[in-house]
Amino acid sequence: MKAVITGGAGFIGSHLCDHLVARGHEVTVLDDLSTGSLSNLSQLKGSPAFRFVQGDILDRDLVDRLVSEADTVFHLAAAVGVYNIVDNPLRSLRINLHGTENVVEAAVRHRVPYMVASTSEVYGKNDADGIREDADRIYGSATKSRWSYAAAKGLDELVAYVHGAESGVPCVITRFFNVVGPRQTGRYGMVVPRFVDQALSGEPVTVYGTGDQRRCFGSVFDVVPAMTRLMDTPEAHNQAVNLGGHEEVSIRGLADRVVGLTGSGSAVTYMEYEEAYGEGYEDMQRRYPDTSLARRLIGYEPTRDLDAIIGSIIEHRRSDRPVPAPAPA
Ligand code: UDP
Repeated sequence: MKAVITGGAGFIGSHLCDHLVARGHEVTVLDDLSTGSLSNLSQLKGSPAFRFVQGDILDRDLVDRLVSEADTVFHLAAAVGVYNIVDNPLRSLRINLHGTENVVEAAVRHRVPYMVASTSEVYGKNDADGIREDADRIYGSATKSRWSYAAAKGLDELVAYVHGAESGVPCVITRFFNVVGPRQTGRYGMVVPRFVDQALSGEPVTVYGTGDQRRCFGSVFDVVPAMTRLMDTPEAHNQAVNLGGHEEVSIRGLADRVVGLTGSGSAVTYMEYEEAYGEGYEDMQRRYPDTSLARRLIGYEPTRDLDAIIGSIIEHRRSDRPVPAPAPA
């Protein structure tokens, strides 16, 4: 099988590349390297089954050509991360709206099955206990740019869904809930790599707000195989499917866990949202997935607990950091 992965130099995309190449598939990555990195793909360099194309998802001709050569498309290219969205609202919106439109239209034109990556953000302020795929969505004001990501991704889902339904081309929408793992960068906001980096450097671990807000972190090593299984499962086609973990933690609790697991002497400090993200930021207090649809469709069951997930990130970050010079005797 020939797969195109948009955003394949990013965190989840690069793990998907590894997974597909290891299973004997040919992979072409399209990525503009705006937030992704070639270092995420260095292990595939030289592999005859792997090709990297640097390019823009807004380039319709390029997208069309690559999709026309493929048997399946995984669309993960997006502007992600709270800092990125808040700092670059217009570019984020264009990439997340028109980029997806380009990929989906090309997939339908060439009748290539496609997956569109979405996010728990689409549920907005809905903090139900175990959010199901058919839950209502509650967004804040359009003047608050943080909501542009949720709104654009929500529209992406519609574009994917409506095109899939009208054309009969198989499509799957995956909704990721705080997926974490090695290679994720904290540069654009993601909390786990930020806390790990802070703890490993001995800097204060910065909790935003009270730290009572809760998240349920999922492992990239559970989510990536689920993506390909969903594509291979006809009952999953033209559905949106939640993917994530099962162990909920407060952000305050996460900070303590990271400090404990790194053995760091870092203090845990608290920062107002306004200072972290700018004026008017609205945070979700809770986001817990109901993954029973994925369980029913493909037997999805998260296999890693939070300590194991954090441990793998610490290990990766340690091996990635320059070895400190030995202390003078
Ligand atoms: N957060 C934090 N410190 C940081 C980065 C994030 O306390 O350095 C908080 C953030 O405000 C949110 C949670 O951690 O409550 C998860 O943030 P992330 O951006 O990783 O994911 P999302 O908000 O999309 O769930």
